[in-house]
Amino acid sequence: MNKGKKALITGITGFVGSHMAELLLTEGVEVYGIQRWRSKTENIEAIQDKIKIEEADLLDAHSLYTVIDKIKPDYIFHLAAQSFVQSSWASPTQTLEVNIIGSAHLFEAVRKTGLPVPIQIACSSEEYGKVLPNEVPIKETNPMRPLSPYAVSKLAMDYLGYQYHQSYQMNIIRTRGFNHTGPRRGEVFAESSFAKQIAEIEKGKREPVVHVGNLEARRDYTDVRDMVRAYYLAVQKCDPGEAYNIATGKAWKIKDVLDLLTGMSKVKVEIKPDPTRMRPSDVEVLIGDNTKFVTKTGWKPEIPFEKTMSDLLNYWRENV
Ligand code: NDP
Repeated sequence: MNKGKKALITGITGFVGSHMAELLLTEGVEVYGIQRWRSKTENIEAIQDKIKIEEADLLDAHSLYTVIDKIKPDYIFHLAAQSFVQSSWASPTQTLEVNIIGSAHLFEAVRKTGLPVPIQIACSSEEYGKVLPNEVPIKETNPMRPLSPYAVSKLAMDYLGYQYHQSYQMNIIRTRGFNHTGPRRGEVFAESSFAKQIAEIEKGKREPVVHVGNLEARRDYTDVRDMVRAYYLAVQKCDPGEAYNIATGKAWKIKDVLDLLTGMSKVKVEIKPDPTRMRPSDVEVLIGDNTKFVTKTGWKPEIPFEKTMSDLLNYWRENV
């Protein structure tokens, strides 16, 4: 059914973008992606000869228009972003610029081409921010109380998507992904950092100490491969302009994630708190209510978290 369809992925060199590309290839979709001249390409090395890459930057409107007009995609997956919450405190305006202005450039580029293409935009559970105990699991209608420049940037992109749909009837689907992880997850993120440190300790590349940040936060983790399947369903089945939580509905305390990974370790490790890994204001608990998305698409997460963590650890064992 999807033979001959073309998909454009922004952020194809990133963690989620590379998994998105792999899924679409197995579905018979022609995969295009944008990258910058200095992008690191190891995440897409294995599929390099099966995908087509164009040079473009979210901060350069002309480059986006040129690529979209040339490809005329049937689907766009907008995954490119400054994606790391921590860095958004170090460089707030860079985060705001890439995630908000960059997304506006993308929407304007599509508008200029006049293509009726569905655009999935990777919004985030971080937008909900400060969630009260009686608000869990979080519904799409929950008040937004963002706690970082990253969260504000994602919220602005989310509402820009709403506004472009209202103003110009553009087919923008606002997916609010809760945490997703798995092989190739950036090493700056807690669970990936733990897994990488353990893999390095096993290889004798560092002392047997795992450095950790806030272990008390609770997060709702979806395997990245289930998440990209959800994004693909979103562009086929969801209503333009609407927002959808994508989550499992269950939470893991970061401490329990750490215990799970150290339990898989081949060596004994010591745990050491590292104040530089703490955020100025952290979101305590994020558990998503996925009813709206599941009702619309029939999606359900299939990969157990234990397998996700074991695949992540094995990924690092092969890559340190
Ligand atoms: P990554 O950081 O792994 O990838 C980000 C991608 O964005 C990279 O390909 C990067 O390209 C690209 N990019 C950054 N700046 C620009 C720019 N100016 N122009 C063009 N491309 C750019 O992020 P993830 O794959 O983990 O996340 C994908 C999306 O999902 C992001 O939007 C993120 O905010 C969102 N999200 C992720 C969650 C998660 O738990 N993983 C949760 C909720 C939302 P380059 O190689 O050139 O740097």
